[in-house]
Amino acid sequence: MARIVMKFGGTSVGNLERIRHVAKRVQSEVERGNEVAVVVSAMSGVTNQLVDYVNDSANLFDLREYDVVVSSGEQVTAGLLAVVLQDRGVMARSWLGWQLPLRTDDSHGSARIKQIEVAEITRRMAEGQVAVVAGFQGVDSQGRITTLGRGGSDTSAVALAAALQAQRCDIYTDVDGVYTTDPRSVAKARKLDKITYEEMLEMASQGARVLQTRAVEAAMNHRVRVQVLSSFEELPGTLVVDEDEIMEQQVVSGIAYSRDEAKITLVKVPDRPGVAAGIFGPLAEASINVDMIVQNVSAEGGKTDLTFTVPKADLAAAVRALEARKGELGAAEIVSDSNVVKVSVIGVGMRSHAGVALSMFQALAGKGINIQVISTSEIKVSVLIAEEYTELALRSLHTAYGLDAD
Ligand code: ASP
Ligand code: MG
Repeated sequence: MARIVMKFGGTSVGNLERIRHVAKRVQSEVERGNEVAVVVSAMSGVTNQLVDYVNDSANLFDLREYDVVVSSGEQVTAGLLAVVLQDRGVMARSWLGWQLPLRTDDSHGSARIKQIEVAEITRRMAEGQVAVVAGFQGVDSQGRITTLGRGGSDTSAVALAAALQAQRCDIYTDVDGVYTTDPRSVAKARKLDKITYEEMLEMASQGARVLQTRAVEAAMNHRVRVQVLSSFEELPGTLVVDEDEIMEQQVVSGIAYSRDEAKITLVKVPDRPGVAAGIFGPLAEASINVDMIVQNVSAEGGKTDLTFTVPKADLAAAVRALEARKGELGAAEIVSDSNVVKVSVIGVGMRSHAGVALSMFQALAGKGINIQVISTSEIKVSVLIAEEYTELALRSLHTAYGLDAD
């Protein structure tokens, strides 16, 4: 017997037939003698529709009301799943964020979880009742509904598993696990049996869309055993675990990519103290995140080029903010390019192996792919390349690091 949290994403609860299928899977866990809490997303497409309604209703809107509207999709699926479970003879009760309560801070639209009260559902779970919890939502200090940011029901599930001290948090989704890279781009991509928290965190934040980044952070902080698996097939998925649970660690475990980057170059800025601060200050003021940065050494004349990346959606605003200070910064020109992709190789094995970056550069050079910007962390090497080479780069790196399925 174990206490488990099962989370079902939007496609898994996309219509009544699928909700019935989910109920069956929940029932079999209950029949195995497990205590079960289920976290559900809204039916696929519903949250997008709700967000559109709010955006179309006013130019500027109160985020507290945005949360009232966009949280409603999960209320529907939680209620429906409880109905369908009861119909199968399984004791079940739905719980909205404010009913638990799942307390968050007051940042509406992307609230952070502070605490979840689980005494009541724990008591009922011990009696065999399934707790069906609406994901993505909580309640602030004023008693108003909050939402956790898009994709937030993953975080609801992990946080609930931590609060319940659950043995497992199973995330059912439309893919059957975490792959070495995107299987739609690389036919030889392999499903991983296990991946470490840190690698999963990098994979999620570098563009792999299996789990919300914050959910992985929460799992890592609270040591929640997360499994990503398919709601449509009865197959083991990928376990996200501590590093010491993996016997033979690959040097590189996965390759992620993100098309969400755009590149800006400030040409011929003076190479003197305060210039970088002068450039990144206005961007920070505009709440624009800068990711990769390279600054060239100055050639004669004390001038240098400075290149960095920002999210594609912020490119126009970033260029505007910099153009306004172009004179002050002393830049000859501001050039931007959104036709780029960031490719990252990720693996905790990098800590103990030399030459990982070199293999990456060699593999890309072998295909004639030019590297525009490089950045590294302890367990990751990222490069920025022209977008048209995305697939070619993924395939050649996948082979170079020995990840191809046979
Ligand atoms: N329904 C929410 C969304 O689409 C939360 C989630 O599915 O995780 O973002
Ligand atoms: Mg999701």
